[in-house]
Amino acid sequence: MQRVAHAILSLSVLALWGCYEGGERRLVAGDSFAEFGSESVDTSAGESADSGGSMGPDIGDGSTSGDGSTSGDPSTSGDPSTSGDPSTSGDPSTSGDPSTSGDPSTSGDPSTSGDPSTSGDPSTSGDTGTVPPEDGDRIARDISLTTVSINQAVEVDVGDGNQLIPVSSRNGRIIQDRDALFRARWQVQPGFGTRSLEARLTINVGGTTTKSYLDTRTVSSTGSANPGSYNGTFRWAVDGADIQPGTTFSVGIYEVDDSYATTPLPSPLPRLPSSGSSSLGVDSGNYEVDVVLVPIRWVYGSNDRTPNLNATNVETIRRTIWERNPAATINISVRSQPVLWNNAISLSGILQALSETKNQDNAPNGTYYEGLADFGCFAVNGSSCSNYGTTGLGYVASANSWASDQRASISVWYDPQSSAETLTHELGHNQGMNHAPCGGASGSDPSFPYSGGAIGVYGHKLDSTAIYSPSSTYDYMGYCDPSWISDWSWERIATRNGLFTTAAPLPPRDGILMQGIIDDDGTEHWIRLEGTLPLDAASPDTFVELWGGDDVVTRLPAYEHELGEGDARVIVVQLPEELEDEHALEGITAAVLETSEVRTPLGLDLLP
Ligand SMILES: [Zn+2]
Repeated sequence: MQRVAHAILSLSVLALWGCYEGGERRLVAGDSFAEFGSESVDTSAGESADSGGSMGPDIGDGSTSGDGSTSGDPSTSGDPSTSGDPSTSGDPSTSGDPSTSGDPSTSGDPSTSGDPSTSGDPSTSGDTGTVPPEDGDRIARDISLTTVSINQAVEVDVGDGNQLIPVSSRNGRIIQDRDALFRARWQVQPGFGTRSLEARLTINVGGTTTKSYLDTRTVSSTGSANPGSYNGTFRWAVDGADIQPGTTFSVGIYEVDDSYATTPLPSPLPRLPSSGSSSLGVDSGNYEVDVVLVPIRWVYGSNDRTPNLNATNVETIRRTIWERNPAATINISVRSQPVLWNNAISLSGILQALSETKNQDNAPNGTYYEGLADFGCFAVNGSSCSNYGTTGLGYVASANSWASDQRASISVWYDPQSSAETLTHELGHNQGMNHAPCGGASGSDPSFPYSGGAIGVYGHKLDSTAIYSPSSTYDYMGYCDPSWISDWSWERIATRNGLFTTAAPLPPRDGILMQGIIDDDGTEHWIRLEGTLPLDAASPDTFVELWGGDDVVTRLPAYEHELGEGDARVIVVQLPEELEDEHALEGITAAVLETSEVRTPLGLDLLP
């Protein structure tokens, strides 16, 4: 078992990008065929026990008191499988009638957290749910409204003082139908005396229903809001149903004590906008992610294991993806038939089997086939069977429809939450993401903007009190913990998610593709897929030569790309018509992968 564990862990070895250069398995262009005909593959890739930090335990709750992940409900928009949260009875989003609502921000409110800036549970602020008058006289004195932001996982600033930040200048998009935490920061001015203030968020959806959300807290004379804490700002949790392209809003800070009404009005007013309301600027895209969980049944030796994908565990996975993805809804299902793997453990081999399964199922282009395999308790960090650190492997998939069958990944099943986070990382590869630069993750994206792979802006787990630090929380596409999503990844994944929201037709499948993975240790896994590789999808100066005896039978343009983890590569070629028949390949005696840099012999015995 130890030997097997070692093999699998080496898949996620964090080999530095570039140390592949000069690897034994590569030959330089110009080497004669005879020289590489017998070349053995390099098995010397470095190995360590590091199984990938991004796959660690549940994310710590940053600077907040009490992790809201235990607060129950999801009140997840659009998911019928989610049971209602008993604590949301006062939530206007569940009643649809603001006149009967209590304070919407009370769900999971840690009013006992001891945060000195908190006056107590805002639900006691006396909000009746009716629309308060625009009481200009009560606008707060000697205080500025500095930043108004919306957080659906990553903080997006929408207001700077009285000024609305236009959509084109924002750091991220607002996703419709997705829950949101609105936050407002302040700065007190000289002469301000510590007292209770009431901040009001007013939202109008589609010009019909106006809802008012109140938050009252004690503001100290000594300073400003603390955005690193859930209770360090004014904040309101708003249901996704109210986050629509036609939504308008305003935010203002008001005196609780009426006696201030007689003093001069401040300038500028602590209100966004100064008067009236502004468009929220919600993106009109329809963001949904379709995930099919594929259980792997592993039958090998005395093992016969299938992961336990019961409703609770599926919900853990759905929720983990949803919390971290720019999407309104994660449509998740479990493939009724497990995929059988009756061989030694090989994540690349299983990954290819998943690709093949998606191809055979004729699953839509935009559907992700996310496999889960239970190999027993060894498959955790350091084989210690402690409850953290699983691993996985996924294609970094192109958005083009020909790559439909690369929207697939495999994650090791152990602790449900750890595995759900691993799966979310592998799904990120399937969504086109390379690694964020942290923890030695291979092939990190050079355009990632934040040093150390940090998330860059405040993160928030919806329906919880968790606020994640911009600098000491790390993008989940790296290998560091604690992890969350950066605004940079948010935008990129949103763009990808937006492509697949209409039922994308199946890609053309006019022929047979040969798809191979060359693993870190040189092992090859080949499959045949029905499909079409467009000529412009091939990588520049990259070919697979098929040889019969001493002759090149054909030289095929090839797509070649790294997989998510380590140095594993995927290669795809379109077989010419005369070689489409399985038996036609029997005459092929050798094959070579040629890039502009090197020629690599391919293992013939594994050709399909
Ligand atoms: Zn990865």
